[in-house]
Amino acid sequence: MRKIILAISALFFVFGNLLANEVNIFSARHYDSDVQLYEKFTAKTGIKVNVVSGKSGALEKRIIAEGGTADLYITADAGRLGAFKDNLQGGLTSSIIKTAVPSNFRTPKWVGIAKRARIVYFAPDRVTRAELRGLTYESLADPKWKGRLVIRASNNIYNQSLVASLIKNNGKGKVAMWSKGIVSNMARSPKGNDRAQILAVAAGEADIAVANTYYLALMLSGKKGAEQQAAAKKVKPFFPNQGDRGTHMNISGAGLVKGAPNKDNAIKLVEFLLSKEAQKHIVNNTYEYPMIAGVSPHPLVVNMGLDFKQDLTTKVVNYGNRQADALEVMTAAGWK
Ligand code: FE
Repeated sequence: MRKIILAISALFFVFGNLLANEVNIFSARHYDSDVQLYEKFTAKTGIKVNVVSGKSGALEKRIIAEGGTADLYITADAGRLGAFKDNLQGGLTSSIIKTAVPSNFRTPKWVGIAKRARIVYFAPDRVTRAELRGLTYESLADPKWKGRLVIRASNNIYNQSLVASLIKNNGKGKVAMWSKGIVSNMARSPKGNDRAQILAVAAGEADIAVANTYYLALMLSGKKGAEQQAAAKKVKPFFPNQGDRGTHMNISGAGLVKGAPNKDNAIKLVEFLLSKEAQKHIVNNTYEYPMIAGVSPHPLVVNMGLDFKQDLTTKVVNYGNRQADALEVMTAAGWK
């Protein structure tokens, strides 16, 4: 009898582990290339990766509704991960993670897996080098840019994170004034995504735009069509705040969900995403900057210039912590 019980428990143990050898990802990233990456992970570890894709808002609702299902939430923007932090748990603290990711790009609940910069684009035929000299995010509110700037709406998370970082560095009062300056410098009421801002400069609707780095590379690649490729060639990137803290950096990141049924596998997957092999795959498909040292971005991103100073002092956790303040000052300024 005892032998039978032992045999049955052993069977349960084996099957239990087989059943549990998976990881459930809820991903707001819409890249087919991510699937190839997960296949590589499965081939290496035997851990099956189940992916639920969708928009971040919908995924967050599902993660909460289907409590105890999701292991990892993968999305763009530290502000978004920060806003979801009550549904995440600590545990992303392995030595592999800590060694790979500088401390300003992670918390125990979520870690950056790739970086992006939010920069200025300009029309070289209408903006002089002298005008750009010493340009900072702060100086975008200077009246010399009146009617010349395009930037997307205040409900956009990238802008909320940028403004949160400005509040962290300058204080809320100054950034409230700054927001008014930005609104009065707008060439048009905010509309469209980041690529639409770059297109507006190319079309002569504005002289400068604020948008993330990977969008120009994506347009230059031709994947968005010949028209956008031609437009991208008409604008030039400029990296702000080179004389002080450096250019505003943000992340794509992974958060460990509370009640994750496969926590250890989730940590293993995050560690894999931070490996050289995975980082190369990510940056070559998304045009982001690698999170780890020793990996080169895509050649189109290299061409935009790699010798710029990144803001490595403003911890990206501030983007979530100051998000409400950021939205408040933008709304008060009439930023649509
Ligand atoms: Fe984006």
